[in-house]
Amino acid sequence: MKLLLITIDGPAGAGKTSVSRMLAARLGYSVVDTGALYRGVAYEANRAGLQPDDDEGLEKLCSGLNLKLIQTEKGQRLLSGETDISDKIRTPEITMLSSAVSARPAVRAYLLKIQREIGREKCLIFEGRDMGTVVFPDADVKFFLTASLKTRSFRRYQELTSQPLEAVAEDMKRRDKNDSRRALSPLQPAHDAVIIDSDDLSLEAVAEKMLSYIK
Ligand code: C5P
Repeated sequence: MKLLLITIDGPAGAGKTSVSRMLAARLGYSVVDTGALYRGVAYEANRAGLQPDDDEGLEKLCSGLNLKLIQTEKGQRLLSGETDISDKIRTPEITMLSSAVSARPAVRAYLLKIQREIGREKCLIFEGRDMGTVVFPDADVKFFLTASLKTRSFRRYQELTSQPLEAVAEDMKRRDKNDSRRALSPLQPAHDAVIIDSDDLSLEAVAEKMLSYIK
């Protein structure tokens, strides 16, 4: 089979990560979780005491950052310099902050470069919000995976044990609003993306559907 670059965009909790992993296992590909990069910038901005709308501060921060995604036996890990920050970027606080900093131009420009650099290789599945629209408009296969807020927040609630369902749903609603209304790279399907609603499908069924499109 031709070596492909595949993109999967969609809102939080739509199942992008689980489905990407299933596809990767079937195709022998690697997954690039680009949300981790935005979370990494948010984590470092927070550590530096920056406000999420401090464009000058964020630009300076990004120019000194060295974020790297690496593939290990434990899956993808995020390094900032030599420090593995993969677990520290998953808190509710960093989650909300990542959505705020992701709307800022300096952050998007910094991460665009890193993502395109990684995308020089093929056999990759990029998951995020603007993979098929902005970062890889020429990707070989593009998917947009979505589901209702109710389904998505329930899935996320089952994964996290630290927050009640109502709080998970509320955070997700705010994030959906931020991510889809921002001026730069808003969350939206590419004109040539295959749109899949996972409300009434198991994630295995979604992966099967995607595989048949890919083939
Ligand atoms: O996918 P994940 O929930 O880890 O992403 C965290 C945040 O990073 C999202 O809410 C979104 O604001 C931002 N993001 C983005 N573009 C991407 C991936 C993530 O703006 N390609």
